[in-house]
Amino acid sequence: MVYMRITCGNCGNQWRVCESDDFTGDKSKRTCTRCGEVVDTQVYEKNLMPAFAYFRDLEKELIKQHTGYHTPLYSVDFISDSLPDKDYIAALMNVTEALQDVSKAIHYNHKLKRRKRK
Ligand SMILES: [Zn+2]
Repeated sequence: MVYMRITCGNCGNQWRVCESDDFTGDKSKRTCTRCGEVVDTQVYEKNLMPAFAYFRDLEKELIKQHTGYHTPLYSVDFISDSLPDKDYIAALMNVTEALQDVSKAIHYNHKLKRRKRK
């Protein structure tokens, strides 16, 4: 079975889209199951889906080579180290939330000082 694992750029959640899923036009397959963020339609349909289809074809060909011509059964993973992983995204989100808390605290203190002056 071939599936692609999508990692949400918003919350770091991961979900699978299987080759047997009817994902054409089904928005739920490109929607994060945790936060509801949706992968851009154009990116999904013009880039992600064709890449997935090529990968499925590659796997079928590797199996065909192995079973038909008795070549070693190769397996392939596509891995990117140019994109941040989910731990990095989670750490970034923690820093962002901490900065938002600091910003709120500063804003609140500013309000209190203004009230005391009146
Ligand atoms: Zn998400």
